Amino acid sequence: MNIHEYQAKELLKSYDVLVPSGGVAFNAVQAGRIAEEIGGSAWVVKAQIHAGGRGKAGGVKVVGSVDEVKKAADAMIGNRLITHQTGPEGSLVQRVWIEQASDIKKEFYLGFLIDRGTQRITVVASGEGGVEIEEVARESPEKIIKEVIDPAIGLRDFQCRKVATAIGLKGKLMPQAVKLMKAIYRCMRDKDALQAEINPLAIVASGDEKLIVLDAKFSFDDNALYRQKIITEMRDLAEEDPKEVEASGHGLNYIALDGNIGCIVNGAGLAMASLDAITLHGGRPANFLDVGGGASPEKVTNACRIVLEDPNVKCILVNIFAGINRCDWIAKGLIQACNSLHIKVPLIVRLAGTNVDEGRKILAESDLSFLTAENLDAAAAKAVEIAGKNQL
Ligand code: ADP
Ligand code: MG
Repeated sequence: MNIHEYQAKELLKSYDVLVPSGGVAFNAVQAGRIAEEIGGSAWVVKAQIHAGGRGKAGGVKVVGSVDEVKKAADAMIGNRLITHQTGPEGSLVQRVWIEQASDIKKEFYLGFLIDRGTQRITVVASGEGGVEIEEVARESPEKIIKEVIDPAIGLRDFQCRKVATAIGLKGKLMPQAVKLMKAIYRCMRDKDALQAEINPLAIVASGDEKLIVLDAKFSFDDNALYRQKIITEMRDLAEEDPKEVEASGHGLNYIALDGNIGCIVNGAGLAMASLDAITLHGGRPANFLDVGGGASPEKVTNACRIVLEDPNVKCILVNIFAGINRCDWIAKGLIQACNSLHIKVPLIVRLAGTNVDEGRKILAESDLSFLTAENLDAAAAKAVEIAGKNQL
């Protein structure tokens, strides 16, 4: 689960990390009032969407008057912002964050992520901040510093100093850097975060030089949300695919993809294999959907409805290998779905496992026409034949 930039900043602030003062606004009037409250003579209006790259796309505006704050907020709220991370349809901006503009001397990148190789949280930092870190990684990988954290002893001061030195921080900024890194690591551990990305971390000079977090991105482990009340409350469902939100409410695991063959499968492994089989035959899956174990007829109906909410779906491949599931329930669910949803696209059904004979009988005896297949390969081939091959 992801949170907005302003929520990440509020979270970091509670860990004593320096962030600009600011406030969130849902309309221009509110934005103006927040700017007045913050005071000063320059502000930044920032569109709050769960995607980066806003700066280059017009989602971050530095302005010099309250009037301009209002204008910038008005231009952003209610419009879709397209950045290189949102896809061509962009994301609807529903709120903006207004903060004090900083006098930036230098920008850095500081990330904490889980490295799959070592299975440890790793600090990734670079003196080339503000820009896309992927670009730096591609063109000058030597400018990226990595430090692996041992989970048993945590992040040590010397490791922070090593990272800070490597990206060019020294003098009075050194203790600040150590404090900041340890605070972010503590925050991550406390809140079951999977990733914390600060880009940019900046040196600003207002009197003494200080380190300040100007942009922060956090993502959290969904499986730990049950024990993370504060984080769960930050969830913004408007930022997630509505079909995925609905599916999770029905205990289904749904992930939207961009093909045209709808998939309803039980078990994540079989679901992955089904996507592979479709791709192997030259087709493209429209989604990943795992109905899980013990799928009741209602669950199957809900699965069909969610899959069909995607207008690209040309047919649905149902692939069930019933263990704790029951093929007769799946069959009943499919008939129920066809009747209540008036499904117009062909359904290709492959059933195997518990109560398979009853399941097949129910389908055969219904007055609906299901296409059946004996095995996954045949089912996938049939689905691709109907939906048409797609160029990748
Ligand atoms: P994104 O990563 O989505 O493009 P950022 O929050 O990183 O958005 O903003 C982009 C750039 O805007 C930053 O690299 C920084 O140069 C500038 N910026 C962001 N916040 C401030 C601020 N409070 N004061 C001054 N400049 C800022
Ligand atoms: Mg950024």
